[in-house]
Amino acid sequence: MTKKIAIVGAGVVGASAAYYLSKEKDIEVTIFDEGIGQGTSAAAGIISPWLSRRRNQKWYRMVKAGAAFYPEFLSEVMDGEPIPKTVYSKVGTLLFKSKYRHLEELLEIGRKRREEAPEIGDLQILSPEEIKLKVPIYTGELSALWASGGAKVDGKELVNLLIEKATQNGATFIQERVENLKPASSGVTISTVQTAYAFDSIVLAVAAWLPTLLEPLGYELDLRPQKGQLAILQLQNTPTAAWPVIMPEGESDIIPFEDGRIVIGATHENDKGFDLEIDSSLLASMVEDSAAQFSTHFEQATIVDYRSGTRAYTSDFSPYYGPVPSLPNVYAASGLGSTGLTAGPLVGKELALLAMDQETQLPLSDYPIEHYIKKINGSKKQD
Ligand SMILES: Cc1cc2nc3c(=O)[nH]c(=O)nc-3n(C[C@H](O)[C@H](O)[C@H](O)COP(=O)(O)OP(=O)(O)OC[C@H]3O[C@@H](n4cnc5c(N)ncnc54)[C@H](O)[C@@H]3O)c2cc1C
Repeated sequence: MTKKIAIVGAGVVGASAAYYLSKEKDIEVTIFDEGIGQGTSAAAGIISPWLSRRRNQKWYRMVKAGAAFYPEFLSEVMDGEPIPKTVYSKVGTLLFKSKYRHLEELLEIGRKRREEAPEIGDLQILSPEEIKLKVPIYTGELSALWASGGAKVDGKELVNLLIEKATQNGATFIQERVENLKPASSGVTISTVQTAYAFDSIVLAVAAWLPTLLEPLGYELDLRPQKGQLAILQLQNTPTAAWPVIMPEGESDIIPFEDGRIVIGATHENDKGFDLEIDSSLLASMVEDSAAQFSTHFEQATIVDYRSGTRAYTSDFSPYYGPVPSLPNVYAASGLGSTGLTAGPLVGKELALLAMDQETQLPLSDYPIEHYIKKINGSKKQD
């Protein structure tokens, strides 16, 4: 019998889940996405989690596995065709520290982590002259740690590709906001402004917006939105596609994409809720900072675009996913924070496996959804 599964939210997590579920002959997939504020299409695009000093081991295992999963995942999605470089490109990462001994410490950390994560690739400290060979516009004087396994992903292109593949496999995409969901005698009903739909199972991949769907059912969630903005610079006549991801000290990273297009960002704004307004003066000062730290060539470049999106964070910065407590046939993931593009395809696949009653790759007990989503009372009345 055909099983009807809805995916709510088509960022990297929902689109990956939709892709996997759409491959199953006996599953009918419907994807709902409002598309406003999406973290994935705003993301800077860095896939390079190994040299973080965060001590959260469960988080690290997730992002390590997520980064390793990317090439395998995209080869499967492309089914023998080459992976488009506009979607994913392994170009390496340059990580800067103002003190040379901090680079040496990181090199040690990286070498240890490489024992379990060979995908980090080649690791070495590069002099300013060696950095210039990789990125000729470098005008700084610091050395940097080079990790050849770092990659960049264009989140919007990735999601477009996954939705295209899922719809080719027969999935339906509905660009609408889901207003509410309700448990039904068998399965779950969800409603948009226009229509109510019945499904056997639902995957909620709505990131920071999860409370809007679960609070009306009497849940309390540990989750908050964080605003992120970035600027896109255009360098004239500069082939940038093969340049590495550049991570100077501080908030602002530099991610060179095709044809001279350079993404600079992102901000981490905790007091703005779901606001998406662009603060061009804040972004201009971020670009100035990058010019001072990395390349004076950025001073002449034009800012051609801005992006703004929302990240989802739990109070202890840990991600979670699994079956929603006391809500049969509903699965959710959230709290992926600033590394959700890295973990997203793997977490999406995990949600697809759960919706098919199959074993997940990572232990669910490491990402316990019940710590972050608690049923506190009966459902509030929904009109
Ligand atoms: C500026 C910025 C830079 C970042 N840079 C990086 C990076 O370099 N590397 C990295 O690994 N991560 C990065 N991240 C984090 C990463 O982008 C996110 O963690 C990840 O994309 C979250 O994916 P998601 O699928 O869970 O959610 P999202 O991509 O946010 O998608 C959720 C979707 O659900 C939709 N939705 C919500 N409610 C409803 C509803 N009721 N009905 C229908 N649709 C709904 C939204 O419109 C949205 O499209 C960055 C984030 C930001 C904001």
